[in-house]
Amino acid sequence: MKCGHCSVEFDSGKERIEPVDEYSDAVFFNYECPNCKRPIIFLCTMAPPTNDLVIPVWPFLNDRPLCPPEVPPHIAEDYQEACLVLIISPKASAALSRRCLQNLLHDAAKVKPSNLFTEIQDVINSGQLPSHIEEAVHAIRQIGNFAAHPLKSESTGEILPVEHGEAEWNLDTLVNLFDFYYVKPKKNAQMLEDLNTKSQDVEKYSRK
Ligand SMILES: [Zn+2]
Repeated sequence: MKCGHCSVEFDSGKERIEPVDEYSDAVFFNYECPNCKRPIIFLCTMAPPTNDLVIPVWPFLNDRPLCPPEVPPHIAEDYQEACLVLIISPKASAALSRRCLQNLLHDAAKVKPSNLFTEIQDVINSGQLPSHIEEAVHAIRQIGNFAAHPLKSESTGEILPVEHGEAEWNLDTLVNLFDFYYVKPKKNAQMLEDLNTKSQDVEKYSRK
């Protein structure tokens, strides 16, 4: 198991199990991370039809990275919700992350609105992405099996069956896209500004 606080892997065999109450089969699984010593708590329900549904209670977002503050709110909101529902409903998570990707492609990549399949092709053809992100974006269509589920491309927010690993892949790719389109440009702009201020100071000093 990976600690949701410090991301260090540890042996998950030493949990403390605590019943929620005397009326249900639900239990809390309590762990203490051997590295950061912080508590990790899961709620486990064993009632049908959801047999063995394990919900992270603390930390709530598990080990998904938080959305960087540079990302516009309407895009950040879909990403955060996609992270929150990932364990409970990968289908709902994938629907939110597809919609998030589509909004990002319009907002940041300036891709002409179409269906998601074509928009992904357009951003790849534009050559603006580094090759590792380009491959990850391309794989969203393959891993999600868009050929079998054309609605994933046409109505991105639709709740549809997910393929193994699809919801996680979408979220990982979004994190890379956030960094490329929103975080790095802002950092670069800040560095240039600092450099300008410094060189102006040097000029002022040398004129004295
Ligand atoms: Zn930890």
